[in-house]
Amino acid sequence: MALDSRIEKILWNEDQISRRVSELAAEITDEFRSSSTPPVFVGVAIGAFLFFADLVRKIDLPISLDFVRAQSYGSGTCSNEAPVISSDLKVNVQGRPVLLVEDIVDTGHTISSIIALLKAKGASSVSVCTFLDKPARRKVEIQPVGQGKLYRGFECPDYFIVGYGLDFAELYRNLPYIGVLKPEHYS
Ligand code: 5GP
Ligand code: MG
Repeated sequence: MALDSRIEKILWNEDQISRRVSELAAEITDEFRSSSTPPVFVGVAIGAFLFFADLVRKIDLPISLDFVRAQSYGSGTCSNEAPVISSDLKVNVQGRPVLLVEDIVDTGHTISSIIALLKAKGASSVSVCTFLDKPARRKVEIQPVGQGKLYRGFECPDYFIVGYGLDFAELYRNLPYIGVLKPEHYS
């Protein structure tokens, strides 16, 4: 796909994303291969929708899947300490291992709230797979539950990035790569 004229630079292109998703899928398959109960993969909408769709297609095991919805930004670039999580999971996670699939972890508030929610709903373990990890602004560490593991796609420099599911003011989610906008588009 041609570079969108609003993008200043690409951090990860389609090929790099696809290769990393395959590697993560292989590691995750190893974790759940011997699970006696099929795991529940929970995607964090909307941002993780493309990553989630790409990842689950590479998992050749019986799994259930569902979404929670988290809203941490209005139309700015600063996340919220108290993200709004809508918890209407249709799949019962009680007694089942869960893999939580997120687009990016920044301060850690959003992922921690969702981990707490899944724990409260009785998940037997919670593993976390975040496509991007932006450790520069971390406030709360990511803590998997029980035997759960932590997977990261790439470490992200401290830029506000868009594409591959991630938006700025509800635009750019459909870009197949991850990039940084030209400064004039952030205003
Ligand atoms: P946290 O609660 O960890 O601060 O923020 C996590 C959420 O903020 C992510 O799920 C994501 O939706 C959003 N977020 C964090 N950093 C970025 C970024 O660089 N770009 C975009 N578009 N969203 C981000
Ligand atoms: Mg998100």
